[in-house]
Amino acid sequence: MLRVNENYLKLPGSYLFSTIGKKVSAYAQANPEKEIIRLGIGDVTQPLAPAIIEAMHRAVDEMGSPETFRGYAPDLGYAFLRDAIVKNDYEARGCQIYADEIFVSDGAKSDSANIQELFAGDCKIAVCDPVYPVYVDSNVMAGRTGTFEERTGMWSDVIYMPCVMENQFVPEFPKETPDVIYLCLPNNPTGTTITKSQLQEWVDYANKNGALIIYDGAYEAYISREEVAHSIYECDGARTCAIELKSFSKNAGFTGVRLGYTVVPKELKFGGASLRDMWARRHGTKYNGAPYIVQRAGEAVYSEAGKKQLKDQVAYYMNNARVIYDGLKKAGYTVFGGVDAPYIWLKTPEGMSSWEFFDYLLERANVVGTPGSGFGPSGEGYFRLTAFSSFENTSAALARIREL
Ligand SMILES: *Cc1c(COP(=O)(O)O)cnc(C)c1O
Repeated sequence: MLRVNENYLKLPGSYLFSTIGKKVSAYAQANPEKEIIRLGIGDVTQPLAPAIIEAMHRAVDEMGSPETFRGYAPDLGYAFLRDAIVKNDYEARGCQIYADEIFVSDGAKSDSANIQELFAGDCKIAVCDPVYPVYVDSNVMAGRTGTFEERTGMWSDVIYMPCVMENQFVPEFPKETPDVIYLCLPNNPTGTTITKSQLQEWVDYANKNGALIIYDGAYEAYISREEVAHSIYECDGARTCAIELKSFSKNAGFTGVRLGYTVVPKELKFGGASLRDMWARRHGTKYNGAPYIVQRAGEAVYSEAGKKQLKDQVAYYMNNARVIYDGLKKAGYTVFGGVDAPYIWLKTPEGMSSWEFFDYLLERANVVGTPGSGFGPSGEGYFRLTAFSSFENTSAALARIREL
């Protein structure tokens, strides 16, 4: 008889967004006259930019004509897109990355979950706490994390790097040396980031210890400060220790369109094996490529018109971030993030737990956010608000919070 992969059964229920959903609908049902504003989920709301829509329309027409129809895409993605990525995301920043190191995909969530297939079963992973849950859960499914301890909310074989107010949300080198280090910068959920020189220290640490960094740059487009790196490859030596994941979801509104890419430099060799060649093999075996229409949409992200329109879109969300950040400050909250990322991370007042503050905000201001404890034990006592709503809703929510 079939036996299931029992690692799946070890996963604690992911109740975060379903619990939020249930609480919000119960409140809405009991208070039908109240207008609830949602600043919880990390999804964009602005429509696709015109340059992207035009590119998609053109690609749709090509698919309808025998001369220009396209079937399966090349394994790594179309050259027009990989060349645009190299030129704009790397060459323009002085990074040495080649088109045959770029793997186009349907987004960073799947890549961040799948990349662990390349590592041995007993590799030790290190994650920031709080963390984007995919990094941990995908390793749980692979049987790499030991046992879950209810009391602490931690896995016995995962190295946690707390990112809290006391260390300015900068992960510290762990006592135990990890094999794989997941870094998401700028960070979801805290909205904070580190400087290029701090990132360089992590690159040096990884090279010295033979560790690999999985660098999730999903929020790169939101960076505003000069001293923050846009790619880990801006750091010396990153080609020998880092894989970079990128997504078109947050910079271009592709959460529903689906497109991303992963960079695996040729220098990444462990025990003589090339991670780039292994990932190419994996890609070719398990994946048949992002749709042509979507890759054309991705190319348009790098067109002159596309760049201009997306800059405005990011600025729109970052204006919301400012409204939230300033509004909370004026209301007396201790606030982080919101400068290089579309997330604001606040300390809950008066020792409230993350969930107590969730209820308080829902009932008193009819505003929905995300409890920090849902992202890991060190998120307890914090709360996330997102800048992805409309300006009108964001302003109205903050006016309510300031009246509390
Ligand atoms: C939103 C997000 C992504 C993007 O995922 P896609 O699958 O590309 O939509 C990746 N990493 C983090 C941390 C995110 O918050």
